[in-house]
Amino acid sequence: MKIKKGKFFPKGVHVPDNKSWSKDVPIEVMEAPDIVCIGLQQHIGRPSVPVVGPGDEVLCGQLIAKEGGYIGANVYSSVSGKVTGIEKRPGVNGVPAEYIVIENDHHDRTMTLPPLPDREPATIKARIREAGIVGMGGAGFPTEVKLSPKTPVDSLVINAAECEPYLTCDYRLMVEKTDEVAQGIRLLAKALGVEKIFVGIEKNKPDAIELFSRYDDMQVVSLKKAYPMGSEKHLIYSCTGRKVPCGKLPADAGCVVQNVATAFAVYEAVEKDKPLYERVMTVSGCGAVHHKNLLVRTGTPFSALRENCGVKDDVTMFVSGGPMMGPAMASTDVYSTKTTSGFLMMLPEEIDVSFPTPCINCGACADACPMNLAPMQIDFYTQSGQYDLAAKYGGVKDCISCGTCAYVCPAKRALTQSIALCKQKLAQAGGKK
Ligand code: SF4
Ligand code: SF4
Repeated sequence: MKIKKGKFFPKGVHVPDNKSWSKDVPIEVMEAPDIVCIGLQQHIGRPSVPVVGPGDEVLCGQLIAKEGGYIGANVYSSVSGKVTGIEKRPGVNGVPAEYIVIENDHHDRTMTLPPLPDREPATIKARIREAGIVGMGGAGFPTEVKLSPKTPVDSLVINAAECEPYLTCDYRLMVEKTDEVAQGIRLLAKALGVEKIFVGIEKNKPDAIELFSRYDDMQVVSLKKAYPMGSEKHLIYSCTGRKVPCGKLPADAGCVVQNVATAFAVYEAVEKDKPLYERVMTVSGCGAVHHKNLLVRTGTPFSALRENCGVKDDVTMFVSGGPMMGPAMASTDVYSTKTTSGFLMMLPEEIDVSFPTPCINCGACADACPMNLAPMQIDFYTQSGQYDLAAKYGGVKDCISCGTCAYVCPAKRALTQSIALCKQKLAQAGGKK
């Protein structure tokens, strides 16, 4: 199908993409670690409920925790071996969470889900739910729930922008597993009951654009390289020209958005009967000795990734995910999840460690904010503990936590942290305002 040019949106920023280190490195299967710690909260929603206990023998691909209610997700073992405990350990953001700890016997005894009787929409949705598939672009929203919108929709939009700098895991899937990703996209469209499929790919991936333009049943949209192009609302506008109003969902514009890795996981669950227990991650940053795209088992310690790729002496910061949205980690003794797309080892020249200075009211953050918010107001009111006013005057409820405001701020205000704190306080106070 002919390639369509994406619609222009004026906000956001141009950040160096730093993808050249890993973009041409084929996906490598990483050896499973001796111990995996598999989180019970790898998704938005209620934590999963363990169905195994200490001392139990498990197989790779065996259900170890069931969804804990609405917006929950099943969790599967990523190795064969013995469960040694269910315990609290720190997550990538330092907050303790519960993990099932499994000692790998390195025999890789694997089980699969039962074969499906058909490929009807209800069967596909049930399989996606059973396989524990969640949005793998970072949000972790259970995919099956997203495929059951309350409002009728007519379009599936695939987020193949991969606009976060450094990350190339989706790109590698697109060029190495093109047909499998395309099959996953068709299954998602069938489950959703739509025929219109848009695949939004940033211009800096011309070979992926070319590969997907071979399919007649999906419209490839060539997107300008801008951050945050992968944000759902901007992607929908660029691909379809439809606007999602403030406070509304993509379904209100007739669209559902899914990402490339999720489509690949759907293909594997439906066609290979494989639940979600591993994913491709990018390991990069100037501090990495080798830059790689690795197929990693869920629950792998970041310390094992560090060892696999090598680390330079002067690394200043470790980041989980991409540099714009991913949290900096206090330690590499934390574990990968279904949504972990990257691990960055960064040198001083890649990061800005300047101390924040007072706001100079330059307005740069508001000018760049892709959601047209007032980040300086969110920061001001959050710093004075007036979270309601941060919502009222800053518009924090529409913030997509993209980090653009912090990136452009000349005073180096810790805007991302203020926004995260404000959202947390508002949620604690009884729901988003
Ligand atoms: S206020 Fe939110 S949406 Fe706007 S730039 Fe900052 S992080 Fe992004
Ligand atoms: S960019 Fe920074 S200094 Fe400028 S108005 Fe926003 S918070 Fe203040």
